[in-house]
Amino acid sequence: TRRVFIQLTGSAALMVSAPTVLAQGLSVKRLPLPCSPAEGKWIGSACQGCTQYCAIEVFNQNGRATRVRGNQNSKGNHGFCCPRGHLIPQENYDPDRIKQPLKRTNPQKGRGIDPKWIPISWDEALDIVADKMVELRNAGEPERLLYLKGRYGNTSHALLYGTLTKLFGSPNNFSTSALCAETEKMGPGYTQGLFSYRDYDLGNSKCVVFWGTDPFASNRQVPNVISRLGQLQKKGTLITVDPRLSTAAAKSKEWLPILPGTDGALANAIAHVLLTEGLWNKDFVGDFADGKNLFVPGKTVDPQTFKENNTLGLITYWNEEAKDWTPERAAKECRLDAEQIRRVAKAMGQAAPNVIVWMGPGVCMNPRGTYTAMVVHALNGILGSVDNVGGTHDPVKSLSGKYPSMDKYIDELAKAHGKGKKIDGRGDL
Ligand code: SF4
Repeated sequence: TRRVFIQLTGSAALMVSAPTVLAQGLSVKRLPLPCSPAEGKWIGSACQGCTQYCAIEVFNQNGRATRVRGNQNSKGNHGFCCPRGHLIPQENYDPDRIKQPLKRTNPQKGRGIDPKWIPISWDEALDIVADKMVELRNAGEPERLLYLKGRYGNTSHALLYGTLTKLFGSPNNFSTSALCAETEKMGPGYTQGLFSYRDYDLGNSKCVVFWGTDPFASNRQVPNVISRLGQLQKKGTLITVDPRLSTAAAKSKEWLPILPGTDGALANAIAHVLLTEGLWNKDFVGDFADGKNLFVPGKTVDPQTFKENNTLGLITYWNEEAKDWTPERAAKECRLDAEQIRRVAKAMGQAAPNVIVWMGPGVCMNPRGTYTAMVVHALNGILGSVDNVGGTHDPVKSLSGKYPSMDKYIDELAKAHGKGKKIDGRGDL
């Protein structure tokens, strides 16, 4: 086979070029390099590479960070970090890293025009900002302060976004989530009552559907997913819904390269197959009173005939939407293969309730994305995987304190202007 051929040629090449490497049949054993153990100390920290804020350890050698690994005691990443985490020392000591504020000295702006940045001290930068802010307050126009926040951190969110603009008297504070992550939380919010991201019980799952997400690179639990890939592939079916051949797609058994924006149609078709094939999770969802499956394509069901356990409105959903979403109809809409939709839905149903529909940003970060987030996440309900072994879970909350309220420091000017109309893009020029 191709694999054996590569192993044989690989072993042969290693034997020729590297005397410290032994070939034993088909397995290759690498001997340790002759060096003394590095002297230094592992120090616990948190990676800032993305919003996972993974627990990490940094190897300190004479005051220099030389290596990074996941915190060996972490239950969130099992002692691993992703490639971005490993690159922290390079980032930290990059000679081109910007370490202080820069000031534009060329008032002319535009493509190809050098802004002529010059480095300035933090004191100078803070004075410039403070003077401008005091000018606004003195002019009685504090609402003209606009605060744009990047990714969440406790300081940027609680102190600057939350408190600073309130004390100053401006309603114009904006966060990234206004245009990205909120829909991903609203889907579970309106279906499950969980306005939040989810965690996933990968260790016990028999089928994982990466839908509009590539957790080998971003989204949630990156180091955890990378380190569990082999185990996941062995234990169950991996399915990826993504227009792009992502890492998840490349590692999955099924890749559905969906037409962007048609995720709702696919989710409806999967629900249609799960229901018509009798593959919904009866413990969680419930069943027909006499046990006979009355979900027939195109036909409505009398709500009195079905007794729901932990879901609400399944029959309404079937009658108003899912009954007409055959795989053939969705295939046209999504530019996919109807047989593949059927196959994937059955694999999900057979693995239920130990199945994860990992709904990610690709599903919902678009106009009216809340609706697609709802229908895709609702599959976890039909499959009974919500809060179940090998399914989806509420995220673990970290224990942290709160900043004290600053309300008593809000003066009359701030009170009068802070509640004004927010510039929110809805009709504002
Ligand atoms: S997933 Fe990677 S980049 Fe993000 S916090 Fe963890 S180690 Fe850092």
